[in-house]
Amino acid sequence: MNYADSARIQAVLTNCWFSYTENSKDADIIIFDTCSIKQKSEDKITGKLKTIRPDQKVRITWCMIQHNLRNSKIKSESSKFKIGNFMGIVKTKTPKIIWFTADEVNLMKTAEKSSEIIWVNNIFNPVFHSLTQKRKNIELMRRIDDTWFLPLMLNRLWYDISYDQELINEYEKILPEHINTSMNTHQITAYVPISTWCNQFCAYCIVPYARGLEKYFPVEQIVNEAKTHLKNWAQEIVLLGQIVNKHPEFVTIIQEILKLKGLKRLRYTSPYPTYYSKELLALHEQEEKLCPHIHMPLQSGSNSILKKMFRGYTVQQAKECIDTIRKLKRPGSCKGNISITTDIIVGFCDETEEDFQQTLDLVKYGNFDMVYIGIYSSRPGTLAAKNYSDNISRTVKRDRRNRLNDLLKDISRKNNEKEVGKIKEILVNKISKWITEWYTDNMKQVLIEWKNSAKVGEFLTVKIIKAIPFKLYGEIIS
Ligand code: SF4
Repeated sequence: MNYADSARIQAVLTNCWFSYTENSKDADIIIFDTCSIKQKSEDKITGKLKTIRPDQKVRITWCMIQHNLRNSKIKSESSKFKIGNFMGIVKTKTPKIIWFTADEVNLMKTAEKSSEIIWVNNIFNPVFHSLTQKRKNIELMRRIDDTWFLPLMLNRLWYDISYDQELINEYEKILPEHINTSMNTHQITAYVPISTWCNQFCAYCIVPYARGLEKYFPVEQIVNEAKTHLKNWAQEIVLLGQIVNKHPEFVTIIQEILKLKGLKRLRYTSPYPTYYSKELLALHEQEEKLCPHIHMPLQSGSNSILKKMFRGYTVQQAKECIDTIRKLKRPGSCKGNISITTDIIVGFCDETEEDFQQTLDLVKYGNFDMVYIGIYSSRPGTLAAKNYSDNISRTVKRDRRNRLNDLLKDISRKNNEKEVGKIKEILVNKISKWITEWYTDNMKQVLIEWKNSAKVGEFLTVKIIKAIPFKLYGEIIS
């Protein structure tokens, strides 16, 4: 999602005649498109800021700004001021930009229509306070939703800006035309958002607070974005949504994108077990280009923990979904199982050893090719932080993570051994001593000794010659 968002920022700035560089050392301006999903993600930003030269300007946007605003002094000040539009959409195409410094607080008091104002560099935002204490080169902190109005903000910063597109107040309508959404100019994977935000309010999750409530993009806009990327540079499309298969027209979106010229692979992430329709499952049996990989975050194998997390499904429902996916028959040349990967949180509030054993049982049952294991950490503002005690010790959390990882290694090795001898098409994503391929069509990473002139963004046919946990080794056939 951050790749797709960053591409939109890049699109607006390119239209103001800025140019993009992949090497941050060459940049005059560095933009942090931040994530708040874990405290670690926010800590990374403060770490990265130390690597920025004092002469380079820094701009910060997205979740770290928005989620901290919610917890800021703004709340206590809100009775005194018209507080402005901190989460919603700016309603006008000609908003007033207010630098929310101490000098401008008075403007806030008199502001007539908060939905016609963009507030930036917010003095009540604790992140703004703490970061600007030490660093004088932070010139802009703003909401991602206001990206289309960057030219106006830059004018306020005395940049001599010209732009040749109408400014639109709907962030998601920015089309990152000619921009590689993977942020590596040689890769051919386009990340296309089909919805934003989330209404699920899982107890541990910061997303609904940092990003707001669900919004579905129109089919025509999504297909147009995919078509533009396929025409210009992409061959693989990844559809994105917090609960991607909840989009009411998800099946139509897939069907329409599958018709587009130039498409080699189509993926989506992340689906929810309770939003799989028969039509969607049938597409996996009919369409070769729809990749045989499903990443379905299940988070726990214990009903009592799932209930505390407000996930809205039971272990039985999760298992039924896994069973249905396992029974699907892939079309044509892409025979074989659909690979399923998942996310699990260990050490959630009140998780007992028995709950954890049930999670191990679910992982065995699911025979997942990969489990992305998260150790639970409390995020301020979430339902879990307000209502539950983070009462599982770090030692127990780590022990559970390690035991789950040991099980996963065993499953991954056994599953990977079944791939040895098979011929696979891989997409080259990175070249070092080995060609590191993030994924075959079923999302297995393959390493190949780099002997020829293969390039990032190329498809190669390889024979799998060796399997270890999490990785396959292959040799190039063509
Ligand atoms: S489904 Fe739950 S975990 Fe996923 S983004 Fe929404 S609230 Fe967060």
